Amino acid sequence: MSKLLKQKTKSMVEIPFTTISSITFGSEQSYIVTNKGNKTVSKCVGCKNHKCCMFEEDELKLDQFGIPVDIRTNVCPTDAISINKDGSISIDNYKCIECGLCLLRCPLGAIHFKNRSAMVEVYETIVDNPSKVDELKKDQMMKNILSVQKSGNVLIANKDLVDHFYDKFSWLPSQYQIADILVRNLFVQLGCSYGIRRRGDVINRIDGILFKNGQIVLNEVELSEDVLESPRAVLDDVAIYKYKFAKSNDKLSGLITLAQLPNSRAEMWRVVDDIKKILNIDIDVVTIGTLLLLVWNGINLKECREPFFNNKTKNRNIPMLYKVDTSFLDTGYLSILETKK
Ligand code: SF4
Ligand code: SF4
Repeated sequence: MSKLLKQKTKSMVEIPFTTISSITFGSEQSYIVTNKGNKTVSKCVGCKNHKCCMFEEDELKLDQFGIPVDIRTNVCPTDAISINKDGSISIDNYKCIECGLCLLRCPLGAIHFKNRSAMVEVYETIVDNPSKVDELKKDQMMKNILSVQKSGNVLIANKDLVDHFYDKFSWLPSQYQIADILVRNLFVQLGCSYGIRRRGDVINRIDGILFKNGQIVLNEVELSEDVLESPRAVLDDVAIYKYKFAKSNDKLSGLITLAQLPNSRAEMWRVVDDIKKILNIDIDVVTIGTLLLLVWNGINLKECREPFFNNKTKNRNIPMLYKVDTSFLDTGYLSILETKK
């Protein structure tokens, strides 16, 4: 008994709350190395900001959009992740759609994909439970982490991940704006400013508003196969925005976010082209899969001045622009990166 207690106490002492010198992220496990050279597996310490669960105010800047936007700050689009009373987190496997956002946001790399779900590495005993440790020490450690040397990746994009996401995503209920929140969170993770309509707002029908290089982009998110209405919905959004909120010098364009691109002969592309010719309004088209590939590869879109896809022939342009490896996806795979002929 006394031997067991000794082991547990030793484990508690070994948690390097203020003395981390480097973190190596890995897709199976991440490791931290202390200033004394000790290497230990990264585990959740129940940090105060819970970056895996919530965006911070300065990341969302909810008051900048000039239109009412949703104020929810949750990172997980399906509410699969929750904060326990002791500050640690739990993940509900049934709700996780493997978007990877929580993994990428944990500064310690304490969350990984295992058995088709996000799983958090936790301390196993009450004695070495970090929630028992002084909050001040945890804060110091988290500040310290910002400057330590980091290497490796907690998530490596591959075909299985894409498949798992599309499989789980297709079963999601369409209510509660899950897709809208997912798209917002992907854009925020990509370094963009993005707001979504407040839940229950029936006057402002705009799904999402994106600020990109001085341009205001109104986004329609359509995940069913019925995509033909999307360009017309963007036109509605432009009209509503101009009439209710726009300043005369606002530069407006449209975006359609789809699960998959329709085939190259689909009517939607003709409508998008006609809107450009007749009304001079650009409408780009992007898939959720493309946004995921960019997020999984740690891309920052803030500096990007290129469109996403402005017609059906400009395929794979955004991932290629950033040298993101998409070679594991066959041409036309799930119509994520290019249209089917
Ligand atoms: S998983 Fe990471 S970000 Fe989330 S509470 Fe734990 S340490 Fe903090
Ligand atoms: S991977 Fe995505 S869906 Fe799964 S728990 Fe994390 S944020 Fe939620």
